[in-house]
Amino acid sequence: MKLLLLSTPVGPLGSGLGGGVELTLSNIAQELLRRGHTLKIVAPVSARVAALQESDSSLSKLPIVEIPGTLQIPAQTQNRSDPILIPANSVLANMWEYARQVQADFDIIVNFAYDWLPFYLTPFFQTPIAHFVSMASLSDAMDKIMESVAIKFPGSIAVCTRAQAETFPFARHCICLGMGSGIDLSLYDFCPHPENQLAWVGRIAPEKGLEDAVAAAEITGIPLKIFGKMQDENYWQQICQHYPNAPIEYRGFFPTVELQKQLRQCRAILMTPRWVEAFGNVAIEALACGVPVIAYQRGGPSEIVRDGETGFLVKPDSVDGLVQAIARLHTIDRSRCRRQAEEEYSMEIWGNRIEKWFRNILKPSSSPACD
Ligand code: UDP
Repeated sequence: MKLLLLSTPVGPLGSGLGGGVELTLSNIAQELLRRGHTLKIVAPVSARVAALQESDSSLSKLPIVEIPGTLQIPAQTQNRSDPILIPANSVLANMWEYARQVQADFDIIVNFAYDWLPFYLTPFFQTPIAHFVSMASLSDAMDKIMESVAIKFPGSIAVCTRAQAETFPFARHCICLGMGSGIDLSLYDFCPHPENQLAWVGRIAPEKGLEDAVAAAEITGIPLKIFGKMQDENYWQQICQHYPNAPIEYRGFFPTVELQKQLRQCRAILMTPRWVEAFGNVAIEALACGVPVIAYQRGGPSEIVRDGETGFLVKPDSVDGLVQAIARLHTIDRSRCRRQAEEEYSMEIWGNRIEKWFRNILKPSSSPACD
């Protein structure tokens, strides 16, 4: 197949601004290339991340067309009833103008943006568009436009988990991939003997609920290492002021290879999102290193973690629940965490599901949608 992959317009690839979808897109691209497909990636340009992309060898090997323009405002910073905003010289619009011009060279265009415009444009393109949706329902205007595409183009919208699908009024029209990403397991090393420390990994932004993990670190006295893009500095300052004595350390944003070196030395990762996380890439990255996942029982992580076997699912928003789970960490066999990642989240399994989805768009069969 000849594929054109359009990245998120909220940040350049490798910047971390786009969250998990950056790793997802990069992994899909690598796996499809390995299978002999040809592809091109379209993403926002940024001089600042050029150096970062160079240092991240997986990204520098990918065929990326960089498009200039103003970045899109992330959907999660807006209210449900807000109208759609598109800035002047929008990189989103520029990327789709590029796609319009080159569409005849491709069999499928794959949209990774959680934005209104690509859905609106779908009926106007001659080349079929597959939409990979990596967020739960956040906006009424998005729900409406996505629903009309889901009905007019059956099988064209894929979601990561059932929990995510259920937030959409058109859940039964979605293809449920059951995973948000596969990962290259050879990049993640198993660590049987961690240090006495915990990890929290993600964008530093209110929807990710970092403060609960910090509260749990304060109560247990176990150091918490924090990794991820600093997306909301005010939010971070509020946490620091509220928990001045918590044993926390913000380490910064690392490329995958560096991130896993640090993550694998932790006793567990805490996942404390306030929103319905569509999937939660960091959960499977932790499992790949043998790190148990302690997560709120909400959204994607509740479909990833095997409660009591590869981590613990905790009552949402309960710091006490996190503390109790931390106390039971000694009961988890870390090798089972790694095994779960191998059994369920390899690039091979991921590639099979993505390929099947694309083939079905090109030649629809009677495959069931999300159940
Ligand atoms: N991440 C990273 N370096 C870091 C911290 C995080 O590359 O130092 C990546 C991580 O690998 C994951 C993404 O950030 O792919 C976070 O994605 P997730 O799906 O967990 O949450 P999202 O940000 O999409 O809500």
